[in-house]
Amino acid sequence: MSFSELGLSDCLLRAIEAEGYDTPTPVQEKAIPAVLSRRDVMAAAQTGTGKTAAFTLPLLQNLAKGEPAKSNSVRALILTPTRELAAQVAESVATYGEHLSLRSTVVYGGVKINPQMKRLRGGVDVLVATPGRLIDLYNQRAIRLSEVEILVLDEADRMLGLGFTEEITRILSLLPKRRQNLLFSATFSHDIRRLSGGLLHNPVQIEVSPRNAAAKSIKQSVFEVDKAKKSALLSHLIRRGGWDQALVFTLTKRGADLLTSQLEEDGITAIAIHGDKSQGARTRALAKFKAGEVRILVATDVAARGLDIEQLPYVVNFDLPKVATDYVHRIGRTGRAGMEGEALSLVTADDAKQLAAIETVIQQRITREQEVGFVPKQIVPITAPRAGGPKKPKKLKKPKTYAAASAAAGRGKAGKKKAVGGRGGKPASRPAAGRGRSGGKGGKPAGRGR
Ligand code: AMP
Repeated sequence: MSFSELGLSDCLLRAIEAEGYDTPTPVQEKAIPAVLSRRDVMAAAQTGTGKTAAFTLPLLQNLAKGEPAKSNSVRALILTPTRELAAQVAESVATYGEHLSLRSTVVYGGVKINPQMKRLRGGVDVLVATPGRLIDLYNQRAIRLSEVEILVLDEADRMLGLGFTEEITRILSLLPKRRQNLLFSATFSHDIRRLSGGLLHNPVQIEVSPRNAAAKSIKQSVFEVDKAKKSALLSHLIRRGGWDQALVFTLTKRGADLLTSQLEEDGITAIAIHGDKSQGARTRALAKFKAGEVRILVATDVAARGLDIEQLPYVVNFDLPKVATDYVHRIGRTGRAGMEGEALSLVTADDAKQLAAIETVIQQRITREQEVGFVPKQIVPITAPRAGGPKKPKKLKKPKTYAAASAAAGRGKAGKKKAVGGRGGKPASRPAAGRGRSGGKGGKPAGRGR
């Protein structure tokens, strides 16, 4: 199967060729024709499967056929959970839309709102946004959402996980009833399925890898170790394997800082990226890592979300994630788009329960290893995936917000016009969009996308 067989226009095929893509990935093969035919789509696809192109390419093609956006209006709205992901998706929109005369831009919190308001004035065909900032802009009358033809919820599970349910419900209430809806999520939780029920109309369902399964190109292993020896073991693994670069996850910001200094003490260049770092510091850290100036990027989950670092060979769970499905997100940073990758987790005796929860999510046992000199004194109990997947919650919470979402999605009255206050804009600026370009390829800021 080739991209041209999927019905993409020459303008897009040229952009794809320039990116060096030969063949569509499985999610692209399935999603592109569905989106082109204006169907709603619900896709289970992790980061690294090529999902961004899967919705962006056909979306651009459909938009190119219609009338340009009116002032302060948006034709396609792409919502993402974090600023980094928003910036990256916007970059993809710009790249793939290079030969089309569509206007696009990106808005997120943590930077000045005024330049964003200015960029929206003339209207944009594609807006990539994080939910909180979008609502701020709407409340300040900088944007009208009544002309939205296509809505994309990217990494929808993450958006709900980061507590954006209320914002999403409100945004849905502001959109016109007639529109195309595309929902992408790494995992399909109960909440996601419930959200999709009120949002999607007869969707094409796409599942490119088994539900909640980790990408096959990723070799996973668990290293048993005592807590006190974790950082020494990590330094040892980095040195022994001669790793060029790795992304290392810690549970806490303090843990990230501490590990960074320990690695530095061991003569391994490292830099931390987390929520307590300023926008500028995060951008610089990521740029340094991408330029190969530091070997190890230490990150917390929120800060790392959406990072697209090409050809990242190693991901390390220095601490296991608290939420088992985050494991899938974390290791999705390696083994991207058909490349080989390795995900290692350092596990202590205290982590057995969490490890079992992860194995249940991915429905496989992860190979255990021990390293000479680091064999733990405290035995890590045997774990196994729970047959049939994670336990269903006994009682689902009242779907109050989803009922509103459902109503807003076209099955009832539009939501109330009450303003959501208080999420106010935290500011600083982004390059402006021009015709055919998105928010630019500049800095890549981080954090939960307000
Ligand atoms: P995504 O899942 O959207 O985060 O994409 C992951 C990476 O795969 C990005 O760096 C894309 O540039 C790359 N990619 C997307 N589609 C293809 C393709 N068909 N062939 C090769 N690489 C691709």
